[in-house]
Amino acid sequence: MSVSIQAAEQPRALALPTASAADAALWLTATVLLAALAYYFLGYDQGAVSVFGSDTHVHEFVHDARHFLGFPCH
Ligand SMILES: [Zn+2]
Repeated sequence: MSVSIQAAEQPRALALPTASAADAALWLTATVLLAALAYYFLGYDQGAVSVFGSDTHVHEFVHDARHFLGFPCH
C-alpha cells in the first residue's frame, strides 16, 4: 500500500508575493521622490545658502558624497 500525495496538497516551493503593476508604480514613484529629495538636500547649501543658517555642517558632512554626485564646491 502506498500513500499518494495530491499535487494540490503539496506546499509551494517558493511563495512569491503578489505585486501588481500599480504597486510597482507606487514604489518606484516613492523611491524617485525620496531620491530627488535627498539629492536636493545634499546640493542645497552651496556656500551662500545653508540648511541651518550660515554654518556648513551639512556641506561638510556630505562633502565626499556631493563630489561623487557632481556638485562642485572648491
Ligand atoms: Zn569639495
